[in-house]
Amino acid sequence: MTPSAPLQHVAEHLDALLRTAEVPDYAGALNGIQVEHVGPVTRCALAVDASLRTIDGAVAAGANLLIVHHGLYWGGVQPLRGRTYERVRRLLAHDVAVYSSHLPLDLHPSLGNNALFARALGLEPTGGFARFQPIAVGVMGEADIETQSLADGARAIAEREGGSLVTVGVEPGRRTRRWALCTGAGASSDTLREAAASGVDTLIVGEGPHHTGVEAQELGIAVLYAGHYATETFGVRALGMEVERAFGLPWTFVPAPTGL
Ligand SMILES: [Zn+2]
Repeated sequence: MTPSAPLQHVAEHLDALLRTAEVPDYAGALNGIQVEHVGPVTRCALAVDASLRTIDGAVAAGANLLIVHHGLYWGGVQPLRGRTYERVRRLLAHDVAVYSSHLPLDLHPSLGNNALFARALGLEPTGGFARFQPIAVGVMGEADIETQSLADGARAIAEREGGSLVTVGVEPGRRTRRWALCTGAGASSDTLREAAASGVDTLIVGEGPHHTGVEAQELGIAVLYAGHYATETFGVRALGMEVERAFGLPWTFVPAPTGL
Protein backbone atom coordinates (compact mmCIF):
# COMPACT_ATOMS: atom_id res chain seq x y z
CA MET A 1 0.00 0.00 0.00
CA THR A 2 1.37 3.44 -0.88
CA PRO A 3 1.95 5.53 2.23
CA SER A 4 -0.23 8.59 2.62
CA ALA A 5 -1.14 11.05 5.39
CA PRO A 6 -3.63 13.90 5.71
CA LEU A 7 -1.99 17.31 5.29
CA GLN A 8 -3.35 18.34 8.68
CA HIS A 9 -1.49 15.49 10.42
CA VAL A 10 1.80 16.27 8.69
CA ALA A 11 1.44 19.99 9.50
CA GLU A 12 0.52 19.35 13.14
CA HIS A 13 3.53 17.08 13.53
CA LEU A 14 5.91 19.63 12.01
CA ASP A 15 4.33 22.57 13.90
CA ALA A 16 4.79 20.77 17.23
CA LEU A 17 8.36 19.77 16.41
CA LEU A 18 9.35 23.21 15.13
CA ARG A 19 7.32 25.15 17.75
CA THR A 20 5.70 27.15 14.94
CA ALA A 21 3.25 28.92 17.27
CA GLU A 22 5.91 30.08 19.76
CA VAL A 23 8.77 31.22 17.50
CA PRO A 24 8.43 34.87 16.39
CA ASP A 25 9.10 35.68 12.73
CA TYR A 26 8.77 38.38 10.07
CA ALA A 27 5.19 38.91 8.86
CA GLY A 28 5.94 37.66 5.35
CA ALA A 29 7.14 34.29 6.66
CA LEU A 30 3.59 33.02 7.37
CA ASN A 31 4.83 29.76 8.90
CA GLY A 32 2.74 26.60 8.65
CA ILE A 33 0.29 25.57 5.91
CA GLN A 34 0.25 28.29 3.24
CA VAL A 35 -1.86 26.43 0.68
CA GLU A 36 -4.16 23.46 1.34
CA HIS A 37 -5.01 20.68 -1.08
CA VAL A 38 -7.56 17.89 -1.48
CA GLY A 39 -4.87 15.36 -0.62
CA PRO A 40 -3.93 13.23 1.18
CA VAL A 41 -0.16 13.73 1.01
CA THR A 42 1.53 10.91 -0.91
CA ARG A 43 4.96 12.44 -1.65
CA CYS A 44 6.78 15.55 -0.40
CA ALA A 45 8.99 17.90 -2.34
CA LEU A 46 11.45 20.02 -0.39
CA ALA A 47 12.92 23.30 -1.60
CA VAL A 48 14.59 26.38 -0.08
CA ASP A 49 12.30 28.79 -1.96
CA ALA A 50 8.70 28.63 -3.15
CA SER A 51 8.90 29.64 -6.80
CA LEU A 52 7.49 28.71 -10.19
CA ARG A 53 10.56 26.55 -10.69
CA THR A 54 10.22 24.63 -7.44
CA ILE A 55 6.44 24.25 -7.92
CA ASP A 56 7.17 22.72 -11.34
CA GLY A 57 9.87 20.57 -9.74
CA ALA A 58 7.38 19.30 -7.15
CA VAL A 59 4.84 18.46 -9.88
CA ALA A 60 7.51 16.72 -11.97
CA ALA A 61 8.50 14.62 -8.94
CA GLY A 62 4.86 13.57 -8.44
CA ALA A 63 4.72 15.35 -5.05
CA ASN A 64 1.56 16.94 -3.68
CA LEU A 65 3.12 18.71 -0.70
CA LEU A 66 5.87 21.29 -1.20
CA ILE A 67 7.77 22.12 2.00
CA VAL A 68 9.86 25.30 1.82
CA HIS A 69 11.98 27.61 3.97
CA HIS A 70 11.03 30.84 2.15
CA GLY A 71 7.28 30.75 1.44
CA LEU A 72 4.98 32.41 -1.05
CA TYR A 73 4.27 35.66 0.79
CA TRP A 74 7.58 37.56 1.17
CA GLY A 75 6.30 40.17 -1.28
CA GLY A 76 3.39 41.08 1.02
CA VAL A 77 -0.19 41.42 -0.21
CA GLN A 78 -0.23 40.94 -3.98
CA PRO A 79 -3.05 40.71 -6.51
CA LEU A 80 -3.29 37.22 -8.05
CA ARG A 81 -1.94 38.38 -11.38
CA GLY A 82 1.07 37.54 -13.54
CA ARG A 83 3.57 35.22 -11.88
CA THR A 84 1.75 35.38 -8.52
CA TYR A 85 -1.39 34.05 -10.24
CA GLU A 86 0.67 31.49 -12.13
CA ARG A 87 2.16 30.07 -8.91
CA VAL A 88 -1.30 29.61 -7.39
CA ARG A 89 -2.78 28.27 -10.62
CA ARG A 90 -0.12 25.58 -10.94
CA LEU A 91 -0.45 24.60 -7.26
CA LEU A 92 -4.24 24.24 -7.51
CA ALA A 93 -4.14 22.55 -10.93
CA HIS A 94 -1.88 19.81 -9.53
CA ASP A 95 -3.36 19.69 -6.01
CA VAL A 96 -0.02 20.68 -4.44
CA ALA A 97 -0.15 22.02 -0.88
CA VAL A 98 2.55 24.32 0.52
CA TYR A 99 3.99 24.25 4.05
CA SER A 100 6.59 26.84 5.02
CA SER A 101 8.95 27.18 7.98
CA HIS A 102 11.35 30.12 8.25
CA LEU A 103 12.88 31.01 11.64
CA PRO A 104 11.41 27.94 13.38
CA LEU A 105 13.46 25.86 10.94
CA ASP A 106 16.54 28.09 11.13
CA LEU A 107 16.94 27.65 14.87
CA HIS A 108 15.78 24.08 15.54
CA PRO A 109 18.51 22.29 17.53
CA SER A 110 18.52 19.07 15.48
CA LEU A 111 16.67 19.85 12.21
CA GLY A 112 17.66 23.49 11.82
CA ASN A 113 19.82 25.14 9.17
CA ASN A 114 22.18 26.62 11.75
CA ALA A 115 22.84 23.51 13.84
CA LEU A 116 23.18 21.27 10.77
CA PHE A 117 25.47 23.64 8.88
CA ALA A 118 27.69 23.96 11.97
CA ARG A 119 27.90 20.17 12.31
CA ALA A 120 28.64 19.79 8.60
CA LEU A 121 31.69 21.99 9.27
CA GLY A 122 32.68 19.80 12.22
CA LEU A 123 31.62 22.45 14.77
CA GLU A 124 29.51 21.71 17.84
CA PRO A 125 27.24 24.59 18.95
CA THR A 126 27.30 25.46 22.65
CA GLY A 127 25.20 28.63 22.59
CA GLY A 128 22.89 30.91 20.64
CA PHE A 129 23.84 33.80 18.36
CA ALA A 130 22.04 36.44 16.24
CA ARG A 131 19.29 37.64 18.57
CA PHE A 132 15.87 38.30 17.08
CA GLN A 133 13.32 39.44 19.66
CA PRO A 134 13.54 36.83 22.48
CA ILE A 135 15.20 34.15 20.35
CA ALA A 136 18.63 33.36 18.92
CA VAL A 137 18.49 32.36 15.27
CA GLY A 138 22.15 31.32 14.96
CA VAL A 139 24.63 29.34 17.01
CA MET A 140 28.11 29.82 18.42
CA GLY A 141 30.83 27.72 20.00
CA GLU A 142 34.50 27.15 20.71
CA ALA A 143 37.08 25.47 18.49
CA ASP A 144 40.80 25.32 17.86
CA ILE A 145 41.07 24.96 14.13
CA GLU A 146 42.80 26.72 11.28
CA THR A 147 40.38 29.28 9.81
CA GLN A 148 41.52 28.16 6.35
CA SER A 149 40.35 24.62 7.02
CA LEU A 150 36.91 25.92 8.08
CA ALA A 151 36.87 27.95 4.87
CA ASP A 152 37.71 24.81 2.87
CA GLY A 153 34.75 23.00 4.45
CA ALA A 154 32.43 25.92 3.80
CA ARG A 155 33.66 26.14 0.19
CA ALA A 156 32.92 22.45 -0.39
CA ILE A 157 29.34 22.94 0.85
CA ALA A 158 28.83 26.12 -1.18
CA GLU A 159 30.11 24.44 -4.34
CA ARG A 160 28.09 21.26 -3.75
CA GLU A 161 24.97 23.45 -3.98
CA GLY A 162 26.16 25.27 -7.10
CA GLY A 163 27.42 28.39 -5.29
CA SER A 164 30.80 29.70 -4.17
CA LEU A 165 32.54 30.94 -1.02
CA VAL A 166 33.68 34.51 -0.37
CA THR A 167 35.97 35.18 2.59
CA VAL A 168 37.30 38.17 4.46
CA GLY A 169 40.29 38.05 6.83
CA VAL A 170 41.30 34.42 6.29
CA GLU A 171 45.09 34.72 6.63
CA PRO A 172 47.51 31.75 6.44
CA GLY A 173 48.10 30.26 9.88
CA ARG A 174 45.19 32.11 11.48
CA ARG A 175 43.24 30.02 13.98
CA THR A 176 39.54 30.06 14.87
CA ARG A 177 38.95 29.77 18.60
CA ARG A 178 35.45 31.19 18.99
CA TRP A 179 33.03 31.06 16.08
CA ALA A 180 29.47 32.19 15.43
CA LEU A 181 27.25 31.05 12.59
CA CYS A 182 24.05 32.43 11.10
CA THR A 183 22.72 30.99 7.84
CA GLY A 184 21.03 33.08 5.16
CA ALA A 185 21.48 36.85 5.43
CA GLY A 186 23.53 36.40 8.62
CA ALA A 187 26.09 39.20 8.26
CA SER A 188 24.94 42.65 9.37
CA SER A 189 26.23 45.49 11.53
CA ASP A 190 24.14 43.98 14.36
CA THR A 191 25.59 40.47 14.11
CA LEU A 192 29.13 41.87 13.79
CA ARG A 193 28.57 43.95 16.93
CA GLU A 194 27.23 40.89 18.72
CA ALA A 195 30.20 38.82 17.50
CA ALA A 196 32.72 41.41 18.66
CA ALA A 197 31.01 41.70 22.06
CA SER A 198 31.12 37.91 22.48
CA GLY A 199 34.80 37.59 21.54
CA VAL A 200 33.99 35.77 18.30
CA ASP A 201 36.95 35.67 15.87
CA THR A 202 35.19 33.91 12.95
CA LEU A 203 31.69 34.57 11.64
CA ILE A 204 30.16 32.06 9.22
CA VAL A 205 27.10 33.20 7.26
CA GLY A 206 25.20 32.83 4.03
CA GLU A 207 25.48 36.40 2.82
CA GLY A 208 25.73 40.02 3.88
CA PRO A 209 26.10 43.48 2.39
CA HIS A 210 29.51 44.78 1.26
CA HIS A 211 29.95 47.01 4.33
CA THR A 212 29.95 43.95 6.61
CA GLY A 213 33.25 42.84 5.03
CA VAL A 214 34.74 46.27 5.64
CA GLU A 215 33.52 46.37 9.25
CA ALA A 216 34.73 42.81 9.89
CA GLN A 217 38.25 43.68 8.75
CA GLU A 218 38.33 46.63 11.16
CA LEU A 219 37.12 44.37 13.97
CA GLY A 220 39.66 41.63 13.17
CA ILE A 221 36.86 39.13 12.56
CA ALA A 222 37.17 36.67 9.67
CA VAL A 223 33.91 36.17 7.77
CA LEU A 224 33.01 33.19 5.58
CA TYR A 225 30.13 33.96 3.19
CA ALA A 226 29.00 30.54 1.93
CA GLY A 227 25.83 31.69 0.12
CA HIS A 228 22.29 32.30 1.36
CA TYR A 229 20.92 29.38 -0.63
CA ALA A 230 23.64 26.80 0.13
CA THR A 231 23.49 27.45 3.88
CA GLU A 232 19.73 26.92 3.97
CA THR A 233 19.50 23.62 2.10
CA PHE A 234 20.09 21.67 5.34
CA GLY A 235 16.81 22.31 7.17
CA VAL A 236 14.39 21.40 4.40
CA ARG A 237 16.33 18.20 3.66
CA ALA A 238 16.08 17.33 7.37
CA LEU A 239 12.30 17.88 7.16
CA GLY A 240 12.18 15.46 4.22
CA MET A 241 13.84 12.80 6.37
CA GLU A 242 11.51 13.63 9.25
CA VAL A 243 8.27 13.21 7.23
CA GLU A 244 9.65 9.94 5.90
CA ARG A 245 10.50 8.76 9.42
CA ALA A 246 7.16 9.83 10.93
CA PHE A 247 4.74 9.04 8.07
CA GLY A 248 6.69 6.81 5.67
CA LEU A 249 6.24 9.46 2.96
CA PRO A 250 8.79 9.49 0.13
CA TRP A 251 10.44 12.83 -0.65
CA THR A 252 12.42 14.67 -3.30
CA PHE A 253 14.71 17.70 -2.85
CA VAL A 254 14.13 20.24 -5.63
CA PRO A 255 17.39 22.18 -6.17
CA ALA A 256 17.66 25.79 -7.32
CA PRO A 257 19.35 26.62 -10.63
CA THR A 258 23.14 26.22 -10.37
CA GLY A 259 24.98 29.26 -9.10
CA LEU A 260 22.01 30.99 -7.48
ZN1 LIG B 1 16.81 32.74 4.28
